[in-house]
Amino acid sequence: MEYETVIGLEVHVQLKTNSKMFCACPADYQSAPPNSRVCPVCLGLPGALPVINRKAVDYTIMTGLALHCQIPEHTKFDRKNYPYPDLMKGYQISQYDLPLAIKGSLDIVVNGDRKTVRVERVHLEEDVAKLQHVSDDSGVNYSLVDVNRSGQALMEIVSMPDMRSPEEALAYLTCIHSIVQYLGVSTANMQDGSFRCDANVSVRPVGSPEFGTRTEVKNMNSYRAVFQALNYEVERQCNLLDQDERVIQETRGWVEDRNITVSQRSKEYAHDYRYFPEPDLPPLVVDADWVEGLKALIPELGHDRKQRFIDELGLSEYDADLLTSSKDTADYFEEVLGLRVLEGTRITNVNKIISNWILVDLTRLLNLKSVGIYRSKVTPNKLAQLIKLVGTGSLSASLGKTVLEECFESGDDPDKIVAINGYTQINDSSVVQKAVNDVIDQNSKAVSDYWDGKESAAKFLMGQVMKLTRGQANPDLANQLILTRLQQERVK
Ligand code: ADP
Ligand code: ZN
Ligand code: MG
Repeated sequence: MEYETVIGLEVHVQLKTNSKMFCACPADYQSAPPNSRVCPVCLGLPGALPVINRKAVDYTIMTGLALHCQIPEHTKFDRKNYPYPDLMKGYQISQYDLPLAIKGSLDIVVNGDRKTVRVERVHLEEDVAKLQHVSDDSGVNYSLVDVNRSGQALMEIVSMPDMRSPEEALAYLTCIHSIVQYLGVSTANMQDGSFRCDANVSVRPVGSPEFGTRTEVKNMNSYRAVFQALNYEVERQCNLLDQDERVIQETRGWVEDRNITVSQRSKEYAHDYRYFPEPDLPPLVVDADWVEGLKALIPELGHDRKQRFIDELGLSEYDADLLTSSKDTADYFEEVLGLRVLEGTRITNVNKIISNWILVDLTRLLNLKSVGIYRSKVTPNKLAQLIKLVGTGSLSASLGKTVLEECFESGDDPDKIVAINGYTQINDSSVVQKAVNDVIDQNSKAVSDYWDGKESAAKFLMGQVMKLTRGQANPDLANQLILTRLQQERVK
């Protein structure tokens, strides 16, 4: 039997607010000592009263707008009741039937095909405390609770079940990630849990009008894990159906080190949560002026920036895509561009040159050491300096890469690195000619190989000249002089 996959994602995004969702506790819980960011409200003490964080509401509406949602005028908060050790009050303040944003959409591209995924809703809620499960040396197991995270502003974006493959789910997730980063509403760091995704998956026989029974998979903390968990779950469900067994609607957890999902608990339904309007908060009225004001704050998003890079900067779709896939990389690129280092030279493809330095050479070093582009010692100023040295011919391209590596390690200015090591390119033709002569005199075999039709022999000679000049010979000049000398050798 052939099956079709159906996926819907619930994405949780921690908002970059100064204080928590309903109290004045600082939101910097990631770096704070455990249980140091707590107050009666987020500890869930009786009688404490919540107050709505306006910034969190702004951020959620902005996200809704970026996802082409409608922003209803009337919205409210509700209590979602469930008993769990990470939930201080025994309920979570969330939004049930009147979320801040509804009926949006997001365009994704997979293998060149464009497709629209509908967004059901974007709502606001509070995060729960963090449990740390410990087993000590004597084999005793216990759990520690860190309330710092409890009450952090958390936005949830729920998609319709419109995705048909793990690839589409990943494309959707990447787009959402880019949007919240560009909006600046979240750090959206997956490793530290600021950006989390629960994946709902089902399969159905191809052509079937009804959806199959879904499972909800949690605990993935990287794109890779989401992708693997979805593939695993699809295969598991197909196998069950092939054996005439049924898929049970349940919550499953991804176990990273075993590459499998395991059953965590049976599915809860809305009525299990006994939702009711939060009596300690007033309903929220979002008027048109408020929405208009926020619309004006929405910056250029990744998709538009990419298009601008293609249309106005003449970059290829591929480069533009890579540069804008992270806001930091795109910002960095534009900063280097803004320094106009090669202005006044005859070089015309400056944008492409800068893009190459960032996407190829710098990115390789960043990946090697797993550092973010703005964390490295190669500041936009330093990269610009390097690009100028190479662009104006005082440094060969290959030594440019060496200088970049040294700058990446030490943080020294490229000018200084070049001066100290004497890397300056040799453009003096008499000096290069001397090196070419020496190399050709010592490699008669390569010369005869060349005239026997082995063109690679010229490359070999070039390599020798570079070696002799410690990479400093102007390569175009060296190449030209080598070819001239080879002609002379033939005449002989
Ligand atoms: P719940 O709180 O029960 O998880 P939500 O409405 O928050 O419900 O989320 C349900 C998610 O599951 C949505 O993203 C929706 O698109 C997805 N979904 C619903 N039915 C299916 C299905 N049959 N297969 C896959 N995904 C589904
Ligand atoms: Zn608090
Ligand atoms: Mg769910």
